[in-house]
Amino acid sequence: MIVKAPHIKTPLPGKNAKRVIAKDRRFTSSSYIKEYPFVIARGKGTVVEDVDGNRFLDFMAGIAVNATGYSHPRVVRAVKRQAERFFHICSTDFYYESFARLAERLTRMTPMEGEKSVFFTNSGAEAVETAIKLVRYHTQRPYIVSFLGSFHGRTMGALSLTASKAKQRSFFSSFLPGVHHIPYGYCYRCPYNLKYDSCGVHCAEYLEKVICRNLMNPKEIGAIFVEPIQGEGGYIVPPPEFHQKLKAFAEKNGILYVVDEVQAGMGRTGKFLAIEHFGVEPDVVIMAKGLASGLPLGAVVAKKKYMTWKAGTHGSTFGGNPLACEASLETLALLEEGLMANAARMGKRLLGKLRKLAGEFEIIGDVRGRGLMIGMELVKDRETREPAAKEADEIVQAAFQRGLLLLSCGESTIRFCPPLVVKAREIDTAVNILTDLLRETNGKRA
Ligand code: PLP
Repeated sequence: MIVKAPHIKTPLPGKNAKRVIAKDRRFTSSSYIKEYPFVIARGKGTVVEDVDGNRFLDFMAGIAVNATGYSHPRVVRAVKRQAERFFHICSTDFYYESFARLAERLTRMTPMEGEKSVFFTNSGAEAVETAIKLVRYHTQRPYIVSFLGSFHGRTMGALSLTASKAKQRSFFSSFLPGVHHIPYGYCYRCPYNLKYDSCGVHCAEYLEKVICRNLMNPKEIGAIFVEPIQGEGGYIVPPPEFHQKLKAFAEKNGILYVVDEVQAGMGRTGKFLAIEHFGVEPDVVIMAKGLASGLPLGAVVAKKKYMTWKAGTHGSTFGGNPLACEASLETLALLEEGLMANAARMGKRLLGKLRKLAGEFEIIGDVRGRGLMIGMELVKDRETREPAAKEADEIVQAAFQRGLLLLSCGESTIRFCPPLVVKAREIDTAVNILTDLLRETNGKRA
């Protein structure tokens, strides 16, 4: 049974981990990143154990996926029960109850007026592909607007919207035609060198005032695809009016507002969807990651009046797999019964502690976030704001050696996205480890 963490008892990676890694390196694609040599054996709640018996505190949740923590007993029970009945039947062609129940539940939980419909997928990228096709089918308009810094996945349609790291796109062109990227609302590094709020939230007006004057007729734009809070781009919270202004422009011109909640949604920010923090009603919502606590499941929820495609125009063999649907129903119940509230509470605690650290360590340029989606951006110099990318990576690597699993995002941001079951004492432990690492980094720089 897994108990306390961290507990590191071998050099990392240990003997067993080295064996697995050697085989992996030999037989798997060279495109995998592998952030650090962590080889999981099992997990429980916020604690994971590697194949050498070392225990880690997990503040990255398999990239914001393990919403209910590792192997939550209720999710495990639901999946086991379903596994005894049937694994698969193909939702495109046949019926099963959990599929319909989950669709109903998601329509209830998404903040849109009126009737809604759901399409289930296996992943975030596949859900993005679905939304692209839906928007094209429904609006018959050629253009889509997306944002610099955004991440929407790596399949060709989704990749056409993605603009996070150039290497993710290089040598993969041609992309989907008609996709136009504009700057996001990134106040710490304002793309227009303006200051909030004397800027008049220019980032939200750029589409209307510049792009639609010089480049595109808004009546030819089918959709704006936007992350409510940018994830891979650096855990960037846009200014409060950002989504409201863009949505108002979209509404005026018959453009669908498609929010990609793959990373920010599913209770992580303390509300079911991150867009709820901005008081905006989306037209289409894309979900995945935490939706089924780690079983592969994505979903597109759209207002019924937009999900008008005919039978056979879109489908998926595995999308909405019965095991994943059962896991998701249990996950959503757990979110509503307390995990969303815990994310809000624990997020406040973590944010407060990280902001305090920013008072102590010059290297911390910005701390931002909502709930348990928090980014700490490191800079070489607070005046120039030059990104401290190497230092951010060193901290992530050193944290692993101390038994704390972290990930970076953007150029030099450390992200904190623990499972939503995280406890106050686990937050305190993680911050203590981080404080030691920042002291050491500071020492090296002095
Ligand atoms: N959209 C967002 C906002 C994401 O963060 C990701 C993955 O990180 C995706 C889409 C793609 O999801 P997947 O990796 O499941 O295809």
